[in-house]
Amino acid sequence: MSCLFCKIIDGEIPCTKVYEDDKVLAFNDINPIAPYHILVIPKKHYDSIIDIDEKDMGIVAHIHTVINKISSEKGFDKTGFRIVNNCGEDGGQEVKHIHYHVLGGKKLPVYEN
Ligand code: C5P
Repeated sequence: MSCLFCKIIDGEIPCTKVYEDDKVLAFNDINPIAPYHILVIPKKHYDSIIDIDEKDMGIVAHIHTVINKISSEKGFDKTGFRIVNNCGEDGGQEVKHIHYHVLGGKKLPVYEN
């Protein structure tokens, strides 16, 4: 198995865990760009959102439920935060295991074209 995030799920590569259940793992990004920079990933491998068909789309709702839980536990639910899912080459996705960046704890810059 060559997927980096699958190795994190299996404990072969360490991470700083924020949340875990039977379907999802959340951990601190090793290269944070905000005071809170948490990655939320499904334990089942999908390269990206493109690979999740309608019958499996419940995992995305579950990931968002987990993000809500984390944001209220950490307290940035009150100040706001950003969820980013980079998809594919043009989207800037480096790790080919779907992941949601959760960024919070500071006022984030507005995207420019
Ligand atoms: O969306 P993208 O694929 O570019 O993001 C990958 C993210 O995975 C990066 O923010 C990187 O810092 C993070 N990463 C990590 N732990 C690793 C390898 C990468 O948190 N061992």
